[in-house]
Amino acid sequence: MDRARRVFFNLRLPDGPAGFVVVEAGRIAAIGRPGETLPEGLHIDLGGRLVVSGFVEGHCHLDFSLYGDAWQPYRAGPNGFVVRERVAFQRENLAQAAPLAERARKHVELSLAHGTTQMRSHVMVDSQIGLGHLQVLLGVREEYRGRIDIEFVAFPQNGILTDPGTAAPLDDAVVAGCELVGGLDPASFDRDIEGHLDVVFGIAEKRGVGVDIHLHDGGTLGIFEIEQIAARTAALGLGGHVAVSHAYSLGEVSEALLQRTAATLAKAGVAIMTIAPPNGPFPPVAPLRAAGVTVFSGSDNIRDSWWPYGDGDMLRRANMIGHRSGFFFDEELAAALDVVTCGGAKALGVEGYGLAVGDRGDFVALPAQHVQEAVVAVPGDRSVYKAGVLVAENGALVP
Ligand SMILES: [Zn+2]
Repeated sequence: MDRARRVFFNLRLPDGPAGFVVVEAGRIAAIGRPGETLPEGLHIDLGGRLVVSGFVEGHCHLDFSLYGDAWQPYRAGPNGFVVRERVAFQRENLAQAAPLAERARKHVELSLAHGTTQMRSHVMVDSQIGLGHLQVLLGVREEYRGRIDIEFVAFPQNGILTDPGTAAPLDDAVVAGCELVGGLDPASFDRDIEGHLDVVFGIAEKRGVGVDIHLHDGGTLGIFEIEQIAARTAALGLGGHVAVSHAYSLGEVSEALLQRTAATLAKAGVAIMTIAPPNGPFPPVAPLRAAGVTVFSGSDNIRDSWWPYGDGDMLRRANMIGHRSGFFFDEELAAALDVVTCGGAKALGVEGYGLAVGDRGDFVALPAQHVQEAVVAVPGDRSVYKAGVLVAENGALVP
């Protein structure tokens, strides 16, 4: 018997019952109809569970997480939520936290145990830290290679122009192994939209990498920056490789301006990442998707200096997206799951993602009748497979 050929049976797929799924050499080699005789191979009984594609964690911060570390109570700044104040709190908290590699491993394992098989993490780069965080995280990434695919964004958490000496390490970080270059509020944080985007897109053009910019700026200011990002994306032919994370402004403007901006994003190929935050306006998921914009999601901060929440579960995130979006209908619940699966894969440019013959054998088996039940119930008892090999079960990694 060919032990390398794995034949998964007694399962459901999102589009209905299936007889079996064969994974060979890490790829889905065949899908059988119900009742069809099982092919030769290592037979794996999935207990009638639903199989969905491995989740895509499209936005997190492996270097900031305090998950598994001593509890750090949330602190309020004198001016409410101000990014620069939170960055200062973070610096103090991280100085007392466990070593970075230890915290990052806990974060990766938490995500993987819940079913994430693809991850994008931002990694802080500034004039003081330089590539310090990145060098540690490149090592952590290697430790988990084969079980979860991780890509990095060189993230200027302290700005670029307001933190002189950041542009060079940002470029160095891309050379050292970041797949993308990031940015942060070109207007409110760096006070110079053109200057900030010149550096970010300059590195992207020079190094041939993607872009993912944190944009908290609201209202028409945020929309103006989104337009600038879309224009530069189109000019450089970077469509499909650029994302704007948070983009709260899309949830704050008139319907007409939203529609105009959505059309601009879709045409330029700029994706939007939203976590469906606990409070405040956020990008409206359904209208953006209807306009052809790729919408994806992530956990963002996990129990760190930004808020006490976060569990790394992208299925729970789909539930939150549905909740905050007022999704009730079946197609809406399916869309919420799509944001954390196919939407994420498209935004990250994951080759061979899906549940068709030829796709990667990256999937999660969970106890639900259909995707709608999975989104509303957020069941545990998950088995996570990477390239057809079991990597996590019941919330723990397989040794
Ligand atoms: Zn973030």
